[in-house]
Amino acid sequence: MKKVLLLLFLFCSISASAQKKYAIAIHGGAGTILKSRMTPEMEEAYRSKLAEAMNAGYGVLEAGGEAKDAVVAAIQVMEDSPLFNAGKGAVFTHEGRNEMDASIMEGKLLNAGAVAGVRHIKSPISAARAVMEDSPHVLLAGAGAEEFASEKGLELVDTSYFFVQRRWDSLKRILKKDSVQLDHDSKSSMLYSVPEDYKFGTVGCVALDQNGNLAAGTSTGGMTNKRWNRIGDSPIIGAGTYANNKTCAVSCTGHGEYFIRAAVAHDVSALMEYKGLSLKEASEWVVNKKLVEMGGDGGLIAIDAEGNVSQPFNTKGMYRGYKKSDGAMKIAIYDSEEE
Ligand code: ASP
Repeated sequence: MKKVLLLLFLFCSISASAQKKYAIAIHGGAGTILKSRMTPEMEEAYRSKLAEAMNAGYGVLEAGGEAKDAVVAAIQVMEDSPLFNAGKGAVFTHEGRNEMDASIMEGKLLNAGAVAGVRHIKSPISAARAVMEDSPHVLLAGAGAEEFASEKGLELVDTSYFFVQRRWDSLKRILKKDSVQLDHDSKSSMLYSVPEDYKFGTVGCVALDQNGNLAAGTSTGGMTNKRWNRIGDSPIIGAGTYANNKTCAVSCTGHGEYFIRAAVAHDVSALMEYKGLSLKEASEWVVNKKLVEMGGDGGLIAIDAEGNVSQPFNTKGMYRGYKKSDGAMKIAIYDSEEE
């Protein structure tokens, strides 16, 4: 009898663990990313860094770790890489500075944290996480956010750490063309117009862990030539980042002013919660209908509690990838690549 019970117990625990799905998705920004303008070396560099970030997060999930830890692990790989517009390699403001934004949210209790306009925090996503876990607030900005990060023992670095020549050259080019400016001709005046070949290089990650918890995170240097301490959607919960275990986790990249006005990340969740749309239907509608009608360029990554992944974008490309516990995996860049 004892043996039968033991076998039954073993069978139950094996089948329970077999059901535990987990998955991760990442992005490294959307925009006018054309194969014709990419060298094979550059493309390979992006693909292998995306894979490294994805695997860093996936490893956390595979070992039974929490979704938020996976999100931070994946994002930190991209923050540390000069390829992406986050951490090292962040774009320059009009004044030639790097001002970074980041946010994180976990879907179980709707906890969230964010930092905006920080200039010395080596890993802005880790500061966002500290705000979520170690402060009574959701969003800290500027010098106060840096003071908080330093009190929490996070690494602060000299501003020169973030410098990447390619980003500096982009600022110079844009300043010359004066192409990111207030568009006074537009009917909806006070909107930035961005050059046609703009690339949004923000990074983000969404994850589902073995306990069924969802998390999302986003980290960025914002938009080249931004002024007046402009802050985009990335550190705004509900715009650039959102997670709710009932629905999905979302991280966005694109023209932040539109993403804030469309409340993009929360909108995807709300369409699922209130209208019963699937993850794919909800995210496609927001990116390819709502944003397109408003004129907002960009894309997002989203994951639901079943481990389904959706990665819609309305630009030429989006650096992206996903990996699931059922073995499905993909790294992609261009719009021509199948999902
Ligand atoms: N969404 C970011 C911002 O507007 C830019 C990006 O995605 O690259 O600040």
